[in-house]
Amino acid sequence: MHAESDPDAIDPLIGKMRAAAAPFRRTLQELHRSYAGLFDGAVATYIPELALADPSWFGISVATADGLVFEIGDSGRPFSIQSISKPFVFGMAIQDHGRDQVLRRVGVEPTGEAFNSIVLDEATNRPFNPMVNAGAIATTDLIEGADAGERFKRLLAMFRRFTGRDIHIDNAVFLSERITGHRNRAIAHLMRNFGMVGDRFEESLELYFQQCSILVTCRDLAIMGATLANGGQNPLTGETALEPQYVKDVLSIMLSCGMYDFAGEWAYRTGLPAKSGVSGGIVAVVPGVAGIGVYSPLLDPKGNSVRGIRVCQDLSRKFGLHAFEARFSGPSFHDECHPPRRGT
Ligand code: GLN
Repeated sequence: MHAESDPDAIDPLIGKMRAAAAPFRRTLQELHRSYAGLFDGAVATYIPELALADPSWFGISVATADGLVFEIGDSGRPFSIQSISKPFVFGMAIQDHGRDQVLRRVGVEPTGEAFNSIVLDEATNRPFNPMVNAGAIATTDLIEGADAGERFKRLLAMFRRFTGRDIHIDNAVFLSERITGHRNRAIAHLMRNFGMVGDRFEESLELYFQQCSILVTCRDLAIMGATLANGGQNPLTGETALEPQYVKDVLSIMLSCGMYDFAGEWAYRTGLPAKSGVSGGIVAVVPGVAGIGVYSPLLDPKGNSVRGIRVCQDLSRKFGLHAFEARFSGPSFHDECHPPRRGT
């Protein structure tokens, strides 16, 4: 069902009705209509649970850095976050350890290789960046905590600060990946050989599978993106999810490496820091302005959501959201989202 949110509902978290009347709702309706019939691509099957996704699922949500939320389609349908967890865990690792220590274990260089490639930097033995599986496992290994339970709790708490709500993992997805994740196990063992992960790396691998199976909606993704857009502070709850000095670390890696071996093309065309996951989500950030969340499980051969890419590209083009846009004369994103109040 493509239930659009009630235009006149007051979101209890936001407490504002301004979003309801905004012309931006129409923009999202048009985008949704344009791509709901696009069935290019295929759902991921290498994690058996993901193969159960319905190719027609499609949701879009945009949250502004000042806390307005717009959504359409399957924006409330939960799915496992998968690789979209990676930049957030990277931010947490940097916050826990500081940049220097984290960068000893993982680089910041795009690979041009697939997300699951088994390749380390020959000169340093580090995984290339925290957005591919090797780098993400090394990053998760850095998450502090006395034992597995405490590390998992800290990780969930961080995601709760970003989403502004209670979240849980999908146990079926977790077990499905845990049983079939031989490639990620091989990557972890290779990194253990080179000292890029520590003695408890098997526990960290479990933690990595758990973080990938966290259930989110594309509304959550938009709010997580808006939190990054808002300097690390969740615009709905006011809570700090990431210290502001580390926001640029996360966003710059998302811009250069967030879309796997499509990252360069993505940066060129869309110009937005973003991260995709194999379950079909994409989060994109317009720094200082908004977060965009899209969910559609049909993936292109590089593992990025086909409709998700189109939606983000169209939004970027329409409103001149590309990071390096100069003298844009098209419609104002801010004005479409913040129309004057009725009667004023
Ligand atoms: N859990 C997935 C894996 O490790 C995440 C990959 C992805 O979303 N691209 O293979």
